[in-house]
Amino acid sequence: MIRVGINGYGTIGKRVADAVSAQPDMSVVGVAKTRPNFEAEQARRRGYDLYPAIEDRLDQFADAGLETAGLVEDLVATADVVVDATPSGIGEQNKALYEEYDTPALFQGGESEDIVDVSFNARSNFDEAADADFVRVVSCNTTGLSRLVAPLEEEFGIEKVRATLVRRGGDPAQSGRGPINDILPNPVSLPSHHGPDVNTIFPDLDIDTLGLKVPATLMHMHSINVTLDSTPTADDVRETLAGESRLLLIDADLDIDGTGALKEYALDMGRPRGDLWENGIWSESITVEGSDLYLFQAIHQESDVVPENVDAIRAVLETSTAEESMATTDEALGLD
Ligand code: NAD
Repeated sequence: MIRVGINGYGTIGKRVADAVSAQPDMSVVGVAKTRPNFEAEQARRRGYDLYPAIEDRLDQFADAGLETAGLVEDLVATADVVVDATPSGIGEQNKALYEEYDTPALFQGGESEDIVDVSFNARSNFDEAADADFVRVVSCNTTGLSRLVAPLEEEFGIEKVRATLVRRGGDPAQSGRGPINDILPNPVSLPSHHGPDVNTIFPDLDIDTLGLKVPATLMHMHSINVTLDSTPTADDVRETLAGESRLLLIDADLDIDGTGALKEYALDMGRPRGDLWENGIWSESITVEGSDLYLFQAIHQESDVVPENVDAIRAVLETSTAEESMATTDEALGLD
């Protein structure tokens, strides 16, 4: 069994912990928390050992009635690999700790590509993470774009990608984020950072991205135009995309008109926390004009990187091929 430590048990960390627990070949050795908040309480209820990240706060955990198993250093020393899901920029500060214990670490999309050996997307470059010390599982938006680009590139060839990213203002629990009544070009200058970030996975891809922020919390929405090297029909594209386990084609019969209904669908499917691990692509939106492909896809920012983190663990430790790992992850999560 691969022993996985989770440092940072928030939106991403708690989901990765549950996904790791569900796998047949790995277990969670513990989670590191800075504060004994509701997530710490839930971590204990789920049976995860708690490792405070700040020694001075040990008393706060005791006062809250939460048993601890050691400090974050003990967790890093015990784990075969650490998933660092701390807020953007904190991962970089934690790097020295992982180096000290010679424990490989996976960072998240908020960290700079400069602090890692490789940026990772399971479908696109699994093998490049083999034996790496530091890997960055790219952001929710870059993951969503990479999952789409990989099969299109293989099947039809890509001349250029143009993507407009309509991004949620914050996650549902982020009460301080916005806008609350506005539509922001964000960033106002082009390109947004997402295109260059996709280039960390596909260095030769010609891609321009534009970003906006809107008063929504449920998901991001991408408006996509890909100029292909060939002229497939829309049905050819649908068939190719339907063959990808992490792309969900939303059939018109489902009558899902937006991210609200899509989130409800995920809840009705019994997905934990209403998570949609796949890109949600509106099948009707897939349109081809000559060599230009158009579509809309929804990206559930809180969860699409979760299966990718699980795969990155196997990739770094070289315990599996890409296909085997993705199949194992998907089956354990119930993603089919
Ligand atoms: P979050 O704020 O929800 O969770 C971070 C957790 O880390 C919190 O529990 C916080 O208390 C804890 N923490 C803070 N400092 C710590 C420290 N020094 N040691 C240990 N724990 C510490 O953040 P998040 O949304 O889960 O984001 C984590 C990373 O994932 C970021 O790099 C972010 O860019 C990336 N990411 C976020 C999303 C998203 O939509 N939320 C999507 C993809 C990637």
